[in-house]
Amino acid sequence: MPHPHSEGLTDFIPAARIEELLARPPAQAGEVRAVIDKSTALQRLSLEDMAVLLSVDDPALQEEMFEAARRLKRDVYGNRIVLFAPLYIGNKCVNSCRYCGFRRENDQVVRRTLTDDELRAEVHALVSKGHKRLVIDYGEHPDYGPETIAHAVRVIYSAKNGGEIRRINVNCAPLDVAGYRMVKEAGIGTYQIFQETYHRPTYAEMHPRGPKADFLWRLYGQDRAMEGGCDDVGLGALFGLYDWRFEAMGLLAHAIHLEDTFGVGPHTFSFPRLKEASNRALQPQYILSDADFKRLIAILRLSVPYVGMILTAREPAELRRQLIDFGCSQIDGGTRIEIGGYSEGEGEQDLAREQFRIGDNRSLEEVVAELLEMGEIPSFCTACYRSGRTGEHFMELAKPGEIKHRCTPNAIATLAEYLADYAGPETRQAGEAVIARELERLDESDRRLTERLLARVREGKRDVYC
Ligand code: SAM
Ligand code: SF4
Repeated sequence: MPHPHSEGLTDFIPAARIEELLARPPAQAGEVRAVIDKSTALQRLSLEDMAVLLSVDDPALQEEMFEAARRLKRDVYGNRIVLFAPLYIGNKCVNSCRYCGFRRENDQVVRRTLTDDELRAEVHALVSKGHKRLVIDYGEHPDYGPETIAHAVRVIYSAKNGGEIRRINVNCAPLDVAGYRMVKEAGIGTYQIFQETYHRPTYAEMHPRGPKADFLWRLYGQDRAMEGGCDDVGLGALFGLYDWRFEAMGLLAHAIHLEDTFGVGPHTFSFPRLKEASNRALQPQYILSDADFKRLIAILRLSVPYVGMILTAREPAELRRQLIDFGCSQIDGGTRIEIGGYSEGEGEQDLAREQFRIGDNRSLEEVVAELLEMGEIPSFCTACYRSGRTGEHFMELAKPGEIKHRCTPNAIATLAEYLADYAGPETRQAGEAVIARELERLDESDRRLTERLLARVREGKRDVYC
């Protein structure tokens, strides 16, 4: 029975075809290399191509894939990693997602929604550490409609504290077209919705009740966002609910659907792995190992060369360090996911206040220092959506690999700003050394552009970008 909301919508995930492709024997080395070449020539792969990569079990060939993913990331985005923080605003929820600590049946979790004053206190705490970019999170509840989200976005942008938040992405329940229009007007960046699983029987089992039980309404969430003017959308799957290879193919099929329908693919992929949560109602059967997680990230990178890839603090610090190189472009730092956690003390993690358990509790500055040590440029850039480089305009630069000519200068300028305003002496020294080295590496025109931006930052100007 179709849900009344999703009547008339058709499922664009070709599940039977995906199963058939995944059942094929491992591909020959020549075939694998041909797919890698297609990807490094910046072409988006087909489902058939991705199945070839997913079939590789030979360690030497896997290493070739990893190397190609590293190269591709550097070719498209340069060696910058964008930093953000998640901000949980309310955890009331009418859904029953078995994996989540916020599900309605869980009476062990403390329910709370930040008031405007509490929200401002959170933003002040985040800004005082140097954050410029947030993703806001809510449970799904009638109290958290588009008016509430739009209001929160305005409160956050206006809460200055020496610095300010310059980009707010949203990770919330799917809205209707009018709802998306409303949140877009408030100035959001990307609207992210994770399908959780693209495998319908598993989806039905994991989401037994509530609006989220409607698979197609959620699947078309990004389509409605595009229609409502939110042209940067994020896709994601929660890895650990079903076979990871099926979910990877689901993400690619979803990206292809958006390209075919709107001429614009997704802005980002998220690939959270299932973590422990308060009073969870599932026995995980599809745990994704660290080794397969690495393969997943590399294969997603190769399959959609233009997409931004988000790796979160769900993963422990040591593993994140290894994974970043395989094609991630955004990570969170200084993460707290309990509601009020940034402004109300830095205590131990408390599962009764959180959606799930995180693995990386380091401060923003510790994460910045590690990135510098790894030779990456930590970036606080928020230039694209504020310069109107969203949707197809962003893709025009990302698809041919041109976006790094913006990303790298902006990364360096925002890093210089962070070092001057927030970093301790050691981080500042390490950061200035990275800036000097990066300037040497840039071509003539990017170097001149970056030096102009840097000169303005050094004069005390803030929020300079190209
Ligand atoms: N409530 C909204 C929704 O479901 O779309 C907002 C998203 S929720 C705040 C963010 C994401 O966290 C979910 O989409 C899900 O993928 C992920 N999540 C939920 N429980 C998790 C767990 N136990 N481990 C890891 N990630 C989890
Ligand atoms: Fe609610 Fe989202 Fe958690 Fe599901 S994942 S229970 S919708 S907060």
